[in-house]
Amino acid sequence: IRMRRGASLADFADKIGADPAALVAALFHLGEMVTATQSVDADTFEILGVQLGYNIEIVSPEDEDRELLQDFDIDLAGELDDLDPESLVARPPVVTVMGHVDHGKTSLLDAIRKSEVMKGEAGGITQHIGAYQIHHDHDGTNRAITFIDTPGHEAFTAMRARGAKVTDIAVLVVAADDGVKEQTIEAINHAKVANVPVIVAVNKIDKPGCDPSRVKNELLSHSIIAEELGGESMFVEVSAKQKINLDKLEEAILLQAEMLDLKSRYQGKSSGVVIESRVDNNKGVVVTVLVQKGTLDVGDIVVAGTAFGRVRKMTDDKGKNIKTATPSMPVELLGLDSAPSSGDNFVEVNEEKDAREISSYRFRKLKEEKSMKNSARSFADVFKESGKGSLKYLNVLIKGDAHGSVEALHGSILKLNNEEVAIKVIHGATGGITQSDVNLAVVSNAIIIGFNVRANNDAKELAENKSIDIRYYSIIYNVVDDIKMLLSGMLNPTKNEQYLGKAEIRQIFKISGSGKIAGGSVIDGIVKKNGRVRLLRDNVIVHDGTLKTLK
Ligand code: GDP
Repeated sequence: IRMRRGASLADFADKIGADPAALVAALFHLGEMVTATQSVDADTFEILGVQLGYNIEIVSPEDEDRELLQDFDIDLAGELDDLDPESLVARPPVVTVMGHVDHGKTSLLDAIRKSEVMKGEAGGITQHIGAYQIHHDHDGTNRAITFIDTPGHEAFTAMRARGAKVTDIAVLVVAADDGVKEQTIEAINHAKVANVPVIVAVNKIDKPGCDPSRVKNELLSHSIIAEELGGESMFVEVSAKQKINLDKLEEAILLQAEMLDLKSRYQGKSSGVVIESRVDNNKGVVVTVLVQKGTLDVGDIVVAGTAFGRVRKMTDDKGKNIKTATPSMPVELLGLDSAPSSGDNFVEVNEEKDAREISSYRFRKLKEEKSMKNSARSFADVFKESGKGSLKYLNVLIKGDAHGSVEALHGSILKLNNEEVAIKVIHGATGGITQSDVNLAVVSNAIIIGFNVRANNDAKELAENKSIDIRYYSIIYNVVDDIKMLLSGMLNPTKNEQYLGKAEIRQIFKISGSGKIAGGSVIDGIVKKNGRVRLLRDNVIVHDGTLKTLK
């Protein structure tokens, strides 16, 4: 019996035609207290399965979707393509530009794009469709490169968190006059987790007095090692503003692509991923997709997420109407019935009936997912799931209030490594927990530790949706203790803290005799006298105590 991750006893009862109450009772006798609608973890299902004589397998939503598509002869994983290497042809690389704010990501993307438009016959028309393709013809080979037009690792990892692998190569932009900064490191960690090679573009070399070699040295300690220092990362010194060495950067990308030996099937039905979509007052639903396999033609019927329709019109990144699109080409489509989300896969199907069926199946699954009760994976679950062979793995992401505490935590956690467990800190930084952190945790199956910091609302919501465990601490010893307990399988997954509500401070009053008074308004839940409170500023805890007076 195959059960969805996060399914409840009621779901299972439904599948085997049993009474949920009987299953609750059966588990109760095995010493597990579970209600019928509560989500059940893999272990508990296993115990129940053994007891009832079923072999229960837990499947992820992504696996389920892939199997659904197989029923319609769509091979998203490319397993059939791999069996027929003859059908595979080299395709252009897809590149995402990442790096610290203001280091020149947007300028670089614009500069590369402009030089393409200037040499083209399109007459300088540019249309921002979320991705664009250029042709490197300095050496007469006219090889194409596709750039994703949304700079930054947030978009990169958000797509990956939805299961889409879009990027082949990351270009890390580092300003020569500013060096390695917080988001530079974040970008490196995102690329590492995605296992995507990094090419470093040392930007702003036109600025007087800047020292590009400094960037090289600084990156050493983040294991981005230049070729001439014995590593494998290519470095290119550029200026987005003065358009210096843009062709060298393109050459580096093409060289890296050659090493990756990127290939796709060009014939047959197409599939790929949604880059962005919007609803236009005149044109209707406008969707940009990146074709990854096969050939997409005007008139084809496609499904993207839950949206579907016949492709009525197709435009390329220069605004030109086109009839067909091949792998690594970004195209804008008209004709879908609704707007899919970025990162959704798109597939071409035989007939509209198939499209309807896939779409309605996905609708149903989405609804089920939403109605599923809090299925947050416990600390212990993450640990089990990441286990490979006898060595156990645990990925940890640390956010803290100060650089010192993040470093200290990092050090203490790594000390717990031994022959049986491999703990990896995939990212550590100061500041509140953001959506980007949660997405990184999703793709690397990590737990998040907030040390004197909190998650913002978006991050909290995403973590709930994606079942990412965020743990809050203010004492290093407690973190180490919890992880130790987890390692010995003794961690109690229940949280000892119950969230009541949140208020926003609007003004501070001073009253002689009573000191400072915070005037505020409740923005979520309730606020209770004598309750435990934390005072947060930019999601960093500045005070921890009890609410003494409430008026
Ligand atoms: P992003 O935040 O990484 O996308 O950075 P932007 O592309 O917005 O660039 C930030 C600032 O740096 C802008 O004022 C740009 O004009 C400037 N800038 C970008 N590239 C260069 C460059 O090569 N040389 C110089 N001098 N300035 C640059």
